[in-house]
Amino acid sequence: MQPVDILAIAAHRDDVELTCGGTMRRAADQGRRTAIIDLTQGEMGTRGSAALRGAEASQAAVILGAEARETLGLPDAGIVNTPETRELLARAIRRFRPRVVIAPAQQSRHPDHRVASELVRDACFVAGLGKVAPDVPVHRPVKVLYCLAYREDGGKPTFVVDISDQFERKLEAIRCYASQFDGLTQAGEVYPNGEPLYDIVRHQAAHYGSLIRSRYGEPFFTTETMRVDDVAALEVSTF
Ligand SMILES: [Zn+2]
Repeated sequence: MQPVDILAIAAHRDDVELTCGGTMRRAADQGRRTAIIDLTQGEMGTRGSAALRGAEASQAAVILGAEARETLGLPDAGIVNTPETRELLARAIRRFRPRVVIAPAQQSRHPDHRVASELVRDACFVAGLGKVAPDVPVHRPVKVLYCLAYREDGGKPTFVVDISDQFERKLEAIRCYASQFDGLTQAGEVYPNGEPLYDIVRHQAAHYGSLIRSRYGEPFFTTETMRVDDVAALEVSTF
């Protein structure tokens, strides 16, 4: 398998679409190779079945332009960060050899999301350790980005990706999960506010877009400080 530029890893099969689907689509539009790993099959979801969600996830991956989408098969609502799960995920990371990994937000309402965030970071590190799973060549991604969509408790985003040209396709990918989303007002980190889910997604993306003076955006956090090489070229006007 050829290395990918970006690997998005999330707990459940709809998480990537909701939190970074526009960014994944934009990267594909820019010619980047992308892939998705869902840690669970979503077998604990109250609507639909794991098999149905698998078909929905494959359809959504095509819309997002991902070259591959895998499920790690960890237990839904029971993700743990242990040497065993780190090695399992590290093996998958070594198969895709990504430069950048997108992880779930560090703070989350769903325990799976919070644990997945730590597990993804730790597995990226472990993937670079030669003594772990020595039968597979090591690979450590350069950077881990954390999603922030639908959350304000993590502080300001480090940056926002302009997804104005990708937003409708992000929504189209989310609509693939009709078996669980249609008529719903909440999902994952999306807090119910009385609006239909699809409207909340649109308004949240519009909010983050407004922070960078764009129509739609997706927010991210990095623990590292961002480097600037030319301050004269900085965007997002102060006034
Ligand atoms: Zn989730």
